[in-house]
Amino acid sequence: MPGMLNNYKVISQEYGTTFVETMPCMICKQTTSIPIPDELFWRWFNGEFVQDVFPDWSVGKRELLISGTHPNCWEKLFESEEA
Ligand SMILES: [Zn+2]
Repeated sequence: MPGMLNNYKVISQEYGTTFVETMPCMICKQTTSIPIPDELFWRWFNGEFVQDVFPDWSVGKRELLISGTHPNCWEKLFESEEA
């Protein structure tokens, strides 16, 4: 579990929301800040699977949280490989 903590930084926690900064995107190198309700953040922090904690998130958004890579950037990558 501690390894998971290296993938993002907590930027702030206020008004019941935790703002997490992701790793830099593999493709565009930008980090992203994602607001997460504290309650869900702690469940995730304590080791629950992303798909269990955020069942209504798209696969792309979960991937963004885990790896920092933007769904749009993935699409661009595949487009450029096909071209
Ligand atoms: Zn990106």
